Amino acid sequence: MRDFTVKKYIQIIESLQDNGYNFYNIKTAILDADLYNSNKKVIIRHDIDTKYDLPIALSMAKYESSKDISASYYFRTIPGVFNENIIKQISELGHEIGYHYEVLSLTRGDFPKAIGLFRSDLERLRKIYPVSTICQHGGTLGYYSSTSIMGLIKTGYALLSGKINMKYYPSIQLWEKYDFKDFGIIGDAYLSFDFEKIKYFSDTGLSWDSHGTRIVDNVYEGKNAEVTAHTTDDLIALISNDRIKRINVLVHPANWNDPILKWLKWRTLQSVRNISKKIIKSSR
Ligand SMILES: [Zn+2]
Repeated sequence: MRDFTVKKYIQIIESLQDNGYNFYNIKTAILDADLYNSNKKVIIRHDIDTKYDLPIALSMAKYESSKDISASYYFRTIPGVFNENIIKQISELGHEIGYHYEVLSLTRGDFPKAIGLFRSDLERLRKIYPVSTICQHGGTLGYYSSTSIMGLIKTGYALLSGKINMKYYPSIQLWEKYDFKDFGIIGDAYLSFDFEKIKYFSDTGLSWDSHGTRIVDNVYEGKNAEVTAHTTDDLIALISNDRIKRINVLVHPANWNDPILKWLKWRTLQSVRNISKKIIKSSR
């Protein structure tokens, strides 16, 4: 069976349910004072980065809801992704909607401007859903579209010719100066967890151990770093063999394609993207 299809995603959920895991979204996990006790727990988080995520997010949301699972869906507020209709449908299925912020990278490190943008974007989202948690968006390749080969080539060319500067401003640094609690936010998907106590798995770059191509979503996990999975079958094996008690899974819906042509196209794109990210990472 091909990896990274919606059918494969369903297998992860089934193995988690068969093995007795309790499901959480980011909000319910933050509110659980006993999160790190000995029961088996899994947090399901989805980041909605591009328009390609939207239809697959909706299918995943429907499936999870049919299994009585409430996950978190973090939406960027850029045109094409901020889709009121889809946000509403996903929240009505019982899921949490969160704000996938990138204000410091959008304002190139201008803190006062960034916090202003954070406030106004949060207000826009809250007209649709009472957002109470946030999560930083990476998007280091965000100068041109990173969902087309042409966009990636343009980014590569601009980088090599010195037209763009890869200085990156992680938006999470906002909270070194400001307090998200002042905005009625109860927690952040990265800042509010101890990843030494809950194992973090991300599907970034179409593998579960792509640390080499992850630029911003690397977390400090101590001994947990020794537990690894490359393919989804590896991940399912860890779940079935009782190797991990607490898991935090990040799934980007656009990474999971059933139709073979879409699957192939996305794979090619991600390979090019992984190479670009490795170049960027090594040039720092
Ligand atoms: Zn993102």
